[in-house]
Amino acid sequence: MKRIGVLTSGGDTPGMNACIRSVFKTGVDMDMQVMGIYHGYKGLIEGRVDYITHEMVENKMHKGGTVLRTARSEEFKSEEGTKKALNVLKAYGIEGLIVIGGDGSFRGAEALFKLGIKVIGIPGTIDNDMGYTDFTIGFDTAINNVMNEIYKIRDTMRAHDRVGVIEVMGRRCGDIALWAGVSGAADLILVPERPMPWEDAANILAANKLRGKLTSIVLIAEGAGSSEAFCEYVRAHTDVEIKGTVLGYIQRGGNPSAFDRVLAARLGQRAVELLSDGKGGYAVGIKNNKIVSVPLEQAVNVNDTFDDKLYDLNSVMAKF
Ligand code: ADP
Repeated sequence: MKRIGVLTSGGDTPGMNACIRSVFKTGVDMDMQVMGIYHGYKGLIEGRVDYITHEMVENKMHKGGTVLRTARSEEFKSEEGTKKALNVLKAYGIEGLIVIGGDGSFRGAEALFKLGIKVIGIPGTIDNDMGYTDFTIGFDTAINNVMNEIYKIRDTMRAHDRVGVIEVMGRRCGDIALWAGVSGAADLILVPERPMPWEDAANILAANKLRGKLTSIVLIAEGAGSSEAFCEYVRAHTDVEIKGTVLGYIQRGGNPSAFDRVLAARLGQRAVELLSDGKGGYAVGIKNNKIVSVPLEQAVNVNDTFDDKLYDLNSVMAKF
């Protein structure tokens, strides 16, 4: 394979730049030309293709966001849109494509693969909601971001003897709340995978107050409800003083952690190796600290499993 392309799609994540760098360096080392496609599938349809250069990737791997930019494209979801994208790839002589993105981006990659282009998916999403891989690029940075905010919020909550509720990203997947909660010593974690009636949650906070624990930290994944609604509920049913914070995009920004940079480098390398072997239609991931590849079709259909043991451990540690 002489010429390959790489794009970032869907939500950006810290570590995407480190992955682009790895794809570029590995590709060049294998005598390939590496083209960057700007603005995801939208840019692919519009033909926004250019060579990646050393200047583009050097001094950028420590930055969040993506030098290739990202986008969402409704047009690409249609058969006509996918065909347009295919024609652009053909016109540029791009024989293999690497897509760095989440679940939606992988479905797009699969659609392109079915039209005959060799595509490899690299998991980039802070939510860690892809079941075929233990970790996705950006998750580790996001939980470190949240963990640091937990301690700042706890300082001010403690000064006022208040309960602090921190709303984090995760509509379907509570991994950010779980891992940030465990690392930040949260007293209660509310996630979609372990639905808890708010009455029970409010009772826990009221009981904490009764036994003299005036400051508790609650992590709530957006899929389990909003911090605002939860605070209102607790205020209406208990005498607990409670304040909510929505962390929002803070979670997704900032310099990628060492773990995310290393993961990005390893996944980028494997993706290029697969293309070099003439393989397409795979997603790369990490399982038990080994880089693995599974068919895209399978990758998008594996249900994400929740770490119940870790959740229960946190409940134990929050008890006393
Ligand atoms: P993420 O990759 O982070 O999950 P999205 O779900 O927004 O982000 O998907 C990114 C892009 O992937 C979409 O804007 C669309 O162009 C493409 N895409 C998503 N779902 C599909 C699908 N079922 N078929 C084809 N393309 C899709």
